[in-house]
Amino acid sequence: MSKFKKFLLSEKEMPMQWYNIMADMPNPMLPPLHPGTKQPIGPEDLAPLFPMELIKQEVSQERFIDIPEEVQDIYKIWRPTPLIRATNFEKMLDAPVKIYYKNESVSPAGSHKPNTAVPQAYYNYKEGVKRMTTETGAGQWGSALSFATQFFGIELQVFMVKVSFNQKPYRKSMMNTWGAKVVASPSELTESGRRVLAANPDSPGSLGIAISEAIEAAVQDEHTKYSLGSVLNHVLLHQTIIGLEAQKQMELADDYPDIVIGCFGGGSNFAGISFPFLKNNLSNGHDTKIVAVEPESCPKLTRGKFHYDFGDTVGLTPLIPMYTLGHNFMPPQIHAGGLRYHGAGPIVSQLLKDGLISANAVHQKECFEAGVKFARTEGLIPAPETTHAIAQVIKEAEQAKLEGKEKTILFNLSGHGLVDMAAYDQYFAGQLEDYSITEDQIKESVAELDLLTK
Ligand SMILES: *Cc1c(COP(=O)(O)O)cnc(C)c1O
Repeated sequence: MSKFKKFLLSEKEMPMQWYNIMADMPNPMLPPLHPGTKQPIGPEDLAPLFPMELIKQEVSQERFIDIPEEVQDIYKIWRPTPLIRATNFEKMLDAPVKIYYKNESVSPAGSHKPNTAVPQAYYNYKEGVKRMTTETGAGQWGSALSFATQFFGIELQVFMVKVSFNQKPYRKSMMNTWGAKVVASPSELTESGRRVLAANPDSPGSLGIAISEAIEAAVQDEHTKYSLGSVLNHVLLHQTIIGLEAQKQMELADDYPDIVIGCFGGGSNFAGISFPFLKNNLSNGHDTKIVAVEPESCPKLTRGKFHYDFGDTVGLTPLIPMYTLGHNFMPPQIHAGGLRYHGAGPIVSQLLKDGLISANAVHQKECFEAGVKFARTEGLIPAPETTHAIAQVIKEAEQAKLEGKEKTILFNLSGHGLVDMAAYDQYFAGQLEDYSITEDQIKESVAELDLLTK
């Protein structure tokens, strides 16, 4: 057993390429379709939204893609991030497990999201983009992109899901500090927002609605492009630096994970920690169990349908093949705002369909309980999203104890919760509810999907 707690890489050891799992997937994904023609879309369909370099990455079959030097320079503000052995948490669990976590909360924005925000801002800047729009749920993505765009002199307009805008005022302050403009979504700034407000003036908003608004605002102006913080292939690609670093650090620890765990919103931090290990499952004879953890209140992976669906609520995106609850699904107002998304990224969806990864859903009270246990043993207060991964770690530890088998577990600590303390307060006050979605609700919400591809 290693007697070390912390496994660090020097700047020189930071990976200089991202890993593209599309080169290694046994079954390719279905192509995204144009919602009008139902034909596969081409690069020109995406050009109003994204710079060409990101569109190329979206469809690339190259196994490794170079990280530009300018991006590496900014990464080095906080990367490589530490890998920590959670020895005190292990002791408390009293199970035959070794637990490591990759600490992505050390970025200036407090989460893994700058790993893709920086290269996205960079490629936009290289192609002369002056203004960008995006959506944000809990505010982590908006703050990460605000942090990234200011390096390149790009203006940013953020559409922030209204329930989070009200619950999490400090993320808005962070975005303003980094120079971005923030509006609560649904807003009056777009046709999409006005339409939702007309139907329901008290709409709490959703990621799907905010995406519609940000896309609409981008396509209306030729110098403005749009940016998405999860789901898409190029976003997952950029996040793989997490797992690539973790592999080097597990080597330093002289260990290898039996189980890799990430919480799941659209799939980016989960993909980031797990895809390099999945590569070893696919091609190097490893058999690591890889688990994505979602909220019970938004269970697209465990109870959704694999089908073509829109990435947003209004229907402005291409049709994407994914596990989905339907683009009109309105998730309950749980605190893990970053996990309130109706669908899952197409790569992760295909991997789940092929049985190469697994998924589990957890209720929010169990998650906060796990987060508090972690904070009281390891010190670090995890983001509400991240507590889903920690709840799964506890389940795996209990299982290992039952079976009397030793396990090495690696999880991604996707962010800290220091801007989410109001949620912890509500948990301590006993004010949090667990929400279950009925089968009928899901059936009703996915019933519309067949119409999309007819
Ligand atoms: C956004 C976010 C998530 C969920 O998004 P993914 O794209 O699924 O990773 C999870 N954890 C934190 C801290 C986040 O900010």
